[in-house]
Amino acid sequence: MPDIHDVVILGSGPAGLTAAIYTARANLKPVVVEGEPSSTSDQPGGQLMLTTDVENYPGFVDGIMGPELMERFRDQAARFGATFVTRKATQVDLSSRPFRIWTDAAHDADADLEARALIVSTGARSLMLNVPGESRLLGHGLSTCATCDGFFFREQDIAVVGGGDSAIEEAIFLTRFARTVTLIHRRKELRASKIMQDRAFANEKIVFRWDTVVNEVVGDTKVSGLSVTNTITGEEDKLAFSGVFVAIGHVPNSGVFDGQLDVDEAGYIRTTEGSRTNVEGVFVCGDVQDHIYRQAITAAGSGCMAAIDAERWLEAAGHG
Ligand code: NAP
Repeated sequence: MPDIHDVVILGSGPAGLTAAIYTARANLKPVVVEGEPSSTSDQPGGQLMLTTDVENYPGFVDGIMGPELMERFRDQAARFGATFVTRKATQVDLSSRPFRIWTDAAHDADADLEARALIVSTGARSLMLNVPGESRLLGHGLSTCATCDGFFFREQDIAVVGGGDSAIEEAIFLTRFARTVTLIHRRKELRASKIMQDRAFANEKIVFRWDTVVNEVVGDTKVSGLSVTNTITGEEDKLAFSGVFVAIGHVPNSGVFDGQLDVDEAGYIRTTEGSRTNVEGVFVCGDVQDHIYRQAITAAGSGCMAAIDAERWLEAAGHG
């Protein structure tokens, strides 16, 4: 039988690693199931591994690279005794105690973990276009977060892909910096709410490119434009942009908890009383429960909340 850990943390973005720092400092010896290299990132560490400069994380006056920030979080957690398992959780059983977590190393003797308390911080991922050039140029002029990266495109011509509220919100936000923002949408009607549409139509910096799909993100070491096709005429075009924002929606990484944790209609895990979930002893933080703010700093803050909630719950249950 595997050892029973007081706290297992699933996920290693700002939320999970902050939870690790706090629970480690509370002497709970957390084990972080940190994920593994994926098609878009060669290291675990969440969405910040896909960004370059982070200029809005407090305390870093001159900014810091996303991967370096996550490495610092991880080193800080390790310093206080957190340990790491570089695998993905593939299955969990929250119906009996201790909770059981299976990871993807099926033939490894210590592939499974048992935990008295579980902190879920598995994050969310942006939906992507899945076209050539996209994963290569992510973080090099291609972004999924206007709040994070808009500042780098002052007086430049950039594009936003999408037609929902996120795309419109990002496009409007980006007009604070950019010279023009071209909104590229695959249909002629926006999906966004009427009020957001009215704001976008009233904004002189936003140019609309209707009935248009992206074939390729073009650029050598950084984005130089998009190759597009008009779906009505079939005409192909090359458009020059120094920045492209993909805003076609997000999906929370909550699938592994299907049928065990309550989620909202979009799959985000529901919280009650801070970070608590419908299963006692399971706490949730970061983007897997937040579809509104989605910032490193808010994720880190919620990781701290989950750690404190878990610590108090363990103590009340006699395991503190
Ligand atoms: P969304 O409403 O699902 O819209 C996604 C948009 O991306 C749609 O216009 C869709 O086109 C387009 N799209 C999807 N896949 C595509 C692809 N492969 N290629 C090209 N285009 C693609 O997602 P969202 O905008 O992220 O919004 C999610 C939820 O959050 C919504 O309920 C929204 O109201 C809410 N939200 C609210 C606010 C606000 O109130 N301020 C801000 C952001 C989000 P089609 O239209 O053709 O399907």
